[in-house]
Amino acid sequence: MKNKPVLYIIIPCYNEEKVLPITAPLFKQEIMKLINRNIISVKSKIMFVNDGSKDQTWNILCELAKKDDCFLGISQSRNRGHQNAVLAGLMESKDQCDITISIDCDGQDDINAMDSMVEEYLKGNEIVYGVRSRRDTDTFFKRFTAESFYKLLNWMGVEVIYNHADYRLISSRVLQEFANYKEVNIFLRGMVPLVGFKSTIVYYERHERIAGESHYPLSKMLSLAFDGITSLSIKPIRMITGVGFVIAVLSFIGVLWSFVEYFIGETVNGWASMTSLICFIGGVQLLCLGILGEYIGKIYLEVKARPRYIISDRTYTKTTICEEENK
Ligand code: UDP
Ligand code: MG
Repeated sequence: MKNKPVLYIIIPCYNEEKVLPITAPLFKQEIMKLINRNIISVKSKIMFVNDGSKDQTWNILCELAKKDDCFLGISQSRNRGHQNAVLAGLMESKDQCDITISIDCDGQDDINAMDSMVEEYLKGNEIVYGVRSRRDTDTFFKRFTAESFYKLLNWMGVEVIYNHADYRLISSRVLQEFANYKEVNIFLRGMVPLVGFKSTIVYYERHERIAGESHYPLSKMLSLAFDGITSLSIKPIRMITGVGFVIAVLSFIGVLWSFVEYFIGETVNGWASMTSLICFIGGVQLLCLGILGEYIGKIYLEVKARPRYIISDRTYTKTTICEEENK
């Protein structure tokens, strides 16, 4: 069993003045419960990330932090979206704590599931994904679009955990490695599994929003799905190459066919040469486009400069050069 870890709860907030006064005490209650159960350190904190809110959110957060040092707040210079807000909180806290749990501030995700998440960490898991056990509270439309979203991502080769959003525990050890993923277009639920390490799942029930309104209409969901695919998969480019190849083959058959028609003599003047040219050039163009796309895809993956390997265990203790010299 590990020592009592310092937990930081990371909570992104965008225009949440209606929700915060209700949910902030609930987060505090949960942290106190975990401290009293003796499974997390008394140094544990709740870190709110204000994502460029236009309402009273930041003032409320400042008040909370003034009254109780368990609450911390950071603020982004402008609204950057949920994913960047969570990332800012994770990166900010990674050197100050042992584990982080990211959760939305609207009370939709069952706060009590943090108990099982911390227990799973103490059993040796470095990442614990919160997975919705059911979606009864969602409308049919939301359920259908969300489920199609996960299926599409998986089909495109983006490894995501079904029905897991952004409620998860990540140890600071994993966050240190995650900090090496320098990409700008971030899609956390597709990126975290790439880091590896021992992980598990905890199921929880998702409720209705306590107050305020969702900031994720269909248009934002679609753009999140598009970002997820284009920042983690080059399958769409591969598909263009595939289509280009098929069309190139069909075009070649078209050229042969126009020749046959020409020699049988059932064509008007110029038809065979025109058809051959159109087929040939069309096919070759698409194939070339696909090949170019292949290279652009490679450049795209290289530009990200992701770490090429991550060492999770060692049979020896690694010491730095300075430590070696001091021996
Ligand atoms: N959020 C954010 N920046 C944004 C939009 C949302 O930080 O630009 C936060 C929001 O305050 C909430 C979480 O992200 O804590 C999830 O947003 P929301 O509840 O509106 O999404 P839904 O649960 O409806 O998908
Ligand atoms: Mg919500």
